[in-house]
Amino acid sequence: MPELPEVEITARRLDAALEGAEVESALAAGMVAVKSIDPPLGALSGRRVARVGRVGKMPVVEFGAGALDGAGPGASAALSLLVHLMSAGRLQVFEKRASLRDRTARVLVRLTDGRELRLREFGTKQRAWVKLMPAQALEGDQMVATLGPEAWPAPPLEELARRVDQPRHLHPLLRDQRVIAGIGRSWVDEILWEAALSPFRQGAELEGEEVERLHGALRVLGDAVEHYEGVIRDVVPDKLPMPLRVHRREGEPCPRCGATLAAVHFAEHVTTYCPEEQTGGRVLKDRRLSRLLK
Ligand SMILES: [Zn+2]
Repeated sequence: MPELPEVEITARRLDAALEGAEVESALAAGMVAVKSIDPPLGALSGRRVARVGRVGKMPVVEFGAGALDGAGPGASAALSLLVHLMSAGRLQVFEKRASLRDRTARVLVRLTDGRELRLREFGTKQRAWVKLMPAQALEGDQMVATLGPEAWPAPPLEELARRVDQPRHLHPLLRDQRVIAGIGRSWVDEILWEAALSPFRQGAELEGEEVERLHGALRVLGDAVEHYEGVIRDVVPDKLPMPLRVHRREGEPCPRCGATLAAVHFAEHVTTYCPEEQTGGRVLKDRRLSRLLK
């Protein structure tokens, strides 16, 4: 699942590739992929890409004002396409248009230069979606307005302390986009390992010094962006070479202390941690923890 560093590098590369590109037409291959009705995707025709950015884990493609006068109220306002990649979506530019048989295609933005900005989704589930809205409506959109502060650059220490002061385990707490935006199942393991905090500590139990460690550990997100800047060329591959040090490395030695990394498996994800440094030497049992995390 693309998280803050992956979406950041995707947005940067798309921004460089698409700035000024003109839209010929736009359409959705899966009806469920478009969550907004007005304006329709067709309103993108004739517009130019102004910028590609992101909010939390969601890419945002901004389109300039429409050239078509008299196409109705608001037709000339700049538009924003908010994209939610969910777990298996990818937003990429292709030199050629997708084949109609491409079952991964969800939303296609065809450019006048022959290229295509395409939202694809792997797997059988159709969960990725887009919303098209006037640019000035983005901040007020429910998905955006409810987001916590961006995890990187890190919010002020005091704000982070306030946000995590909740009777919830750190692992789900930090993945809650309303608490802090951009962290998912991969980077939460890295952040907690960096901070030497148990995934099963409650946010409200943290001492001041522990919150400071958590705050400092958010820099792993920035380090990852820097890593991608060095290794990702113009095109972001389907599978990014994520610089993860502990996530899914169960059984391997901890890169810091050498203890054997342990993991707890859940239905849809796995939490990897260093028992020596994060859980006071305890290797936690899956069943007990599944109960704890409910
Ligand atoms: Zn360790």
